[in-house]
Amino acid sequence: MFDKLFGLLSHDIGIDLGTSNTLVWVKGKGIVIREPSVVAIHKKTKKVIAIGTDAKKMVGKTPATIQTVRPLRGGVIADFDATSSMISYYIQSIHEVGNIFPISWSRPKVVIGIPSAVTEVQRRAVWEAALSAGAREAFLIEESMAAAIGEGISVFSPTGAMTVDIGGGTTEIAIISLGGIVVSKSLLCAGDEMDRAIMHYIRLRHGLLLGERTAEELKIKIGSAYEQKLKVKSEKLKVDSEEETEKIDEKHNIEPLAHNQSRVAVVRGRDIETGLPKSLRVTEVEVREALAPVLSEIIEGISEVLEEAPPELTSDILEHGILLTGGGSLLPGIDKIIVEITHIPVIKSEDPLTTVVRGTGKVLEDAALLQRVKIIGGLK
Ligand code: ADP
Ligand code: MG
Repeated sequence: MFDKLFGLLSHDIGIDLGTSNTLVWVKGKGIVIREPSVVAIHKKTKKVIAIGTDAKKMVGKTPATIQTVRPLRGGVIADFDATSSMISYYIQSIHEVGNIFPISWSRPKVVIGIPSAVTEVQRRAVWEAALSAGAREAFLIEESMAAAIGEGISVFSPTGAMTVDIGGGTTEIAIISLGGIVVSKSLLCAGDEMDRAIMHYIRLRHGLLLGERTAEELKIKIGSAYEQKLKVKSEKLKVDSEEETEKIDEKHNIEPLAHNQSRVAVVRGRDIETGLPKSLRVTEVEVREALAPVLSEIIEGISEVLEEAPPELTSDILEHGILLTGGGSLLPGIDKIIVEITHIPVIKSEDPLTTVVRGTGKVLEDAALLQRVKIIGGLK
């Protein structure tokens, strides 16, 4: 009975504890928080100075006394105290706004999606952190499972489904069938690795040191995985009415330009030789070249998971395709290159940054589903 009463006062919460971004879903409201998974800590006192966006602004600019950490960077909990500060900060901040009751009265139910490589001991620790932050009940579900549910895949059917979630720190690859994960792999090769590849390339080729954030901006601005000219060709083939032909002719005029003139961006970094700041024009082609090895590694990971899967499931995936999600899936052409190499159709999520948290939201609203997919949790 008390539980019911608590339920009335509280906002049940779904959390996507990503390596780059943390998102929070509140039952009946949807996504209410989207912040970088960054915590700024005072080095000596270990006191938390900032969390989320405020902390990300400090990255690379901190004085010796302050340190910024990304507690889940490698898909495991590297800094437990920072992780639990993050969890409790978000759980409590939701109950501060628009709720007259303190959290000690309201006691929400919390579902957290975590990377599959988080160890058993760490899972338990995350679970306990949620409870000590004021959760009445806390449940952990695997990110890949949350992603599949978030995209509306029927996870209990005997049909195999494959999810590839390219986040910041890790790429989570999983094959799901009958409500469970049959094969999975967590690669340390994802968005951050793309940024590092760009930094490495620019240093070798132009002798310029870029910061991590600059490299990420470059990737988001002009990054791509595949030369886009094929798209224009196939659009041309589709033309039949005269009116459309005219339109395409107009396009045709622009096309050669678009071909030769790849997009460029100007970045600022530090010249290795002189040690002084310098600007540089970087082309789309160069960024694509820099990203190629990272993409190969991700595709290799996908192939390995497919090789480990039972043949019946592989044939389901061949038929229904791979679900591609996570921020890294926003890289233009990444689906095309995966299709080209694996010969398996790829379905891109429409809103890849929110897939996992939407999944936790669906799980919150369906108690039976939660019981079936949770990996840890319940009442203390
Ligand atoms: P996580 O779940 O690990 O927190 P996200 O799914 O939030 O990660 O994705 C974050 C990653 O996506 C970052 O590496 C970021 O640079 C990358 N990203 C975001 N937008 C784009 C874009 N338009 N193109 C390429 N990568 C992107
Ligand atoms: Mg994620």
